[in-house]
Amino acid sequence: MCGIIACTGEDVGSLAVEGLKRLEYRGYDSYGFAWVTGSGGAIQTRKSLEPLEDLGDRLPQCSAVVGHTRWATHGTVSLENCHPHSAHDNSFSLVHNGIVENYQDLRKTDITCADVSDTQVIVRLLETALSKAASREGALRDVLDRLGGRNTILVLFPDGEMLAARHGSPLLVSRTESQYFLSSDLISFAPYTSLYCPIPEQHIVRIKGKCIALYDATLSLCDIDWVQVEVSNSEFSKDGYPHFMMKEIMEQWQTVSRQAKSTGADLGNFVLELERRGNLLLTGAGGAYYTCLQIAWLLREVTGLKALAVPAYEIESLEALYGQGDFVLAVSQSGETADTISAVERAESRGMRVASLVNMPMSTLARMSEFSFANHSGPEICVLSTKSATAQITFGYLLAKRLKGQDGGAAIDQLSHVLSQYLTRTVSWKIREVTKRLVSAHSIFVLGRGLFLPCAMIAALNIKEASYSHAEAFAAGELKHGVLALIEKGVPVMLYVDRDDSYMLNVASEVKSRGAHLVGIAYEDNELFDDFVPMPIVSDPLLAAICGLIPGQLIAYHLGIQAGVNPDRPRNLAKSVTVQ
Ligand code: GLU
Repeated sequence: MCGIIACTGEDVGSLAVEGLKRLEYRGYDSYGFAWVTGSGGAIQTRKSLEPLEDLGDRLPQCSAVVGHTRWATHGTVSLENCHPHSAHDNSFSLVHNGIVENYQDLRKTDITCADVSDTQVIVRLLETALSKAASREGALRDVLDRLGGRNTILVLFPDGEMLAARHGSPLLVSRTESQYFLSSDLISFAPYTSLYCPIPEQHIVRIKGKCIALYDATLSLCDIDWVQVEVSNSEFSKDGYPHFMMKEIMEQWQTVSRQAKSTGADLGNFVLELERRGNLLLTGAGGAYYTCLQIAWLLREVTGLKALAVPAYEIESLEALYGQGDFVLAVSQSGETADTISAVERAESRGMRVASLVNMPMSTLARMSEFSFANHSGPEICVLSTKSATAQITFGYLLAKRLKGQDGGAAIDQLSHVLSQYLTRTVSWKIREVTKRLVSAHSIFVLGRGLFLPCAMIAALNIKEASYSHAEAFAAGELKHGVLALIEKGVPVMLYVDRDDSYMLNVASEVKSRGAHLVGIAYEDNELFDDFVPMPIVSDPLLAAICGLIPGQLIAYHLGIQAGVNPDRPRNLAKSVTVQ
């Protein structure tokens, strides 16, 4: 979490503002910049708790700048805790992404420090280290060696020199003819550059004017391997929609099709390996864990592969079932989810092989993987995962089909066509009317079974995130074992009902007879439903795994709007969860 950027070159102030705006999805508790002008001088800073868009598009003219958009982990959301943090004598300013896990110990033993946030501990350590070390990079190395946890740091000095150190949290360097950029991800400076280098773990970069140097953990100089990556600029506009969430929901008919076109060619060797092993462990966190459940279900159902899903932060509970040479498939939109990276590290230490499914090229998980698959969804700006979730499940469906010796491409083409008809203003407005009757509810329950259980889980998560309403998903079979006690007159229950699904219709009767307000998410209306939300209808019943997600996304969106929430930026959340 947190987004960090830096730029050097002539008049890079406006580029820095634009670059940081693109990272706001990583945290929006506060923002700040530190900069120097011309060939150096006093470092100036600007910090704010206001949205970054209120800053306009420019900082004063400057030649080197660092910026930060914060997701607070230690210390309240306050100007005092806002980055950049500066040395007492203003001899440097730094921004930080991560958590100094041993910050309390460091405060007790190494420094006397009344400051609150973990980042300020780094500042105090660097002040001391700079007074002793022979070089700035040596001082930063000393500090890094003392920090527990994942910490990536950018430091600006008054002479315009910049140091960047990567440890755990992501960092890329990119360049034009006359500028260097550093950023947590590649979308910040995509309009200006397509040449990137992911900074390797434990490495330090030094930039001054037109000179750049990369040092490894022993401070030996190393080569920088620039990679060409194009990111489409159109992805950053709302295209006339009021929110990115709505835009990203509406474009899913295209993203599932793009996923199918790209996945086909990539799968070959991975399929061969899975056929050899017969075992797969899928892991992810949050919504990505629910998509893992869905993909695992598809793989078991279609191929008989022993595929299980486990939340990344609970991998210990299943790892004993897997051994040397088995695959773990890590699913993460950002490819930087700290919980998932830790799970993969743990799996690797047991001899497991790594595959990943991520939306961000060159991300940490992609680079850790023997087989890395892309979502092909384009940047997803809304904090909630919508188009990346459907793309992930599309991948799972295609993988399952390929393992069975079939090609799922035609079915995805049909799905894409059906979604292009379904994702209209008419359907969206109908769902908006339904949500008007849910908006004041104390709790919303979402019931499903089989393929629809992960859909129900994702719907409940989306509702919580987008509207702050309490929503809980349950397997329909759980109802009589406890959940029914929560149902009373007027309690909204959303039910996923498959074709000819007499089991779910009985469940509907049971909650209805206790007075529930029933929202049927189904292929056809039923007299039991108080409200009916139609699902997209496709010929392959397995694609319900994808179709079932879309009504839940629209319900969450409209509930959020009616509750006065900006669903693109739910409070306390950030898109890329790079801390544990
Ligand atoms: N721990 C730092 C803070 O609270 C940085 C947070 C982060 O990177 O998410 O300000």
